[in-house]
Amino acid sequence: MSDERVVTPRAGEEDQQIEKSLRPRRLAEFIGQEKVVEQLRIAIAAAKGRGEPLDHTLLYGPPGLGKTSLAGVLANEMGVNIKLTSGPAIERAGDLAALLTNLQKDDILFIDEIHRLNRAIEEVLYPAMEDFALDIMVGKGPGARSLRLKLPRFTVVGATTRLALLTSPLRDRFGAVHRLEFYSVDALYEIVMRSARILGVACTPEGAREIAARARGTPRIVNRLLRRVRDYAQVIGDGVITLEVARDALAKLEVDHLGLDENDRRLLRAIIELFGGGPVGLSTLAASLAEEVDAIEDVYEPFLLQLGFLQRTPRGRIATRRAYEHLGVPYVERTMDNGAEQGRLWT
Ligand code: ADP
Repeated sequence: MSDERVVTPRAGEEDQQIEKSLRPRRLAEFIGQEKVVEQLRIAIAAAKGRGEPLDHTLLYGPPGLGKTSLAGVLANEMGVNIKLTSGPAIERAGDLAALLTNLQKDDILFIDEIHRLNRAIEEVLYPAMEDFALDIMVGKGPGARSLRLKLPRFTVVGATTRLALLTSPLRDRFGAVHRLEFYSVDALYEIVMRSARILGVACTPEGAREIAARARGTPRIVNRLLRRVRDYAQVIGDGVITLEVARDALAKLEVDHLGLDENDRRLLRAIIELFGGGPVGLSTLAASLAEEVDAIEDVYEPFLLQLGFLQRTPRGRIATRRAYEHLGVPYVERTMDNGAEQGRLWT
C-alpha cells in the first residue's frame, strides 16, 4: 500500500501546493465542525474582550480534517502571526528555544504532530506554556546554573492524530481540547462547491454530491477527488463535472461508492481470508500487508471504524458483517472463542 493512493488523507506535494489556495481563512468560511467552530468563536471573542492571547488549544482527529487550517483561521481572527512547526521538526531543545524567543506578543505557535515531540523538548515547552518562561542551563558541571528568560505571552496550537500518544503533562497544559470529526456529505458538498468556485471548475450539484459522498468524510480527499475528476472531465467531456462524469472518473480511480479503494478492500480481505475474520493483532495485520502499524492506525482504520466495517477489541481487529457484505463475501459466524462478537451472534 502506498500514500500515492487517491484517497489517502495524508498530504502529498501536489496537495500542499493547491491547499494553500483552498484553505479557509476566516471562521465564517470554515465549513462543518459546527461544535468546534462555535466554541472557538466564543473563545476568540472572550480573549479579544480581555485583550489576552487565546488559551493554548489542542486539535485532534484524523489527518486532512482541517487542523492546520483552523490554526490559521485562529491567527487571522485574532489578528496575530502564526509560526508553523511540527513535533519531528524540533530535534533539539535549542530548536524550540529559537522558535520561542522569536515569538512576538500574542503570536500563535502551531505544532503539528505534537505527539512526536521528544521528552526533553517537552520539558522545555512546559514552563513556556505555563509561565511564559524559558529555562536555559548556563555552564557545565558543578558550576552550571539555570537562567530564566521571560517570553511574551503567546498561544500554542497543537495538532495530533493520536491523542492517546500525548503525555498527560503535555495534554494538561492545554486550556482547550477540541476533537475534529469526519465531515457529513452535506458539509463536503459545500466544500466541493467552494473549491470548484475557487479553482474555476464547472460542477453540477449532482456531480459535486457524488464526489462528496466518496471522500471518506475528509476535506483533503474531497479536494483531491475534485481535481482528478476535473482532469477527467476535461479530457473526456466538455470540462463540466456532471453526475455521469464524476461516476465514471471515480470508477476509473477505483474509489467505490463509500470511498473505499483497493487498499481498504485488501485490508478487509486480509482479515477475512487470512485470519478468519479476526480478531487479528495490529502488528500481525500490518506485517501481512507489508504496511506500517502507524499507517494502519492513522490512515486506514479511522474511516473503516467509522463505517462500522472494523471493530477494535482487546484481542485485535475484527471484520464485521457489514465488511463481508460490502465485499460480497458470505458472512461466516465466528466460533465461541472469538469473544467480542459472541453476544451479537448468540442472542
Ligand atoms: P489537517 O491539518 O487536519 O491534516 P488541513 O487543515 O491541512 O488538515 O486541511 C486539508 C485541506 O482540506 C485544507 O487545505 C483545505 O483545503 C481543506 N479543508 C479542511 N477543512 C476545511 C473546511 N472546514 N472547509 C473547507 N476546506 C477545508
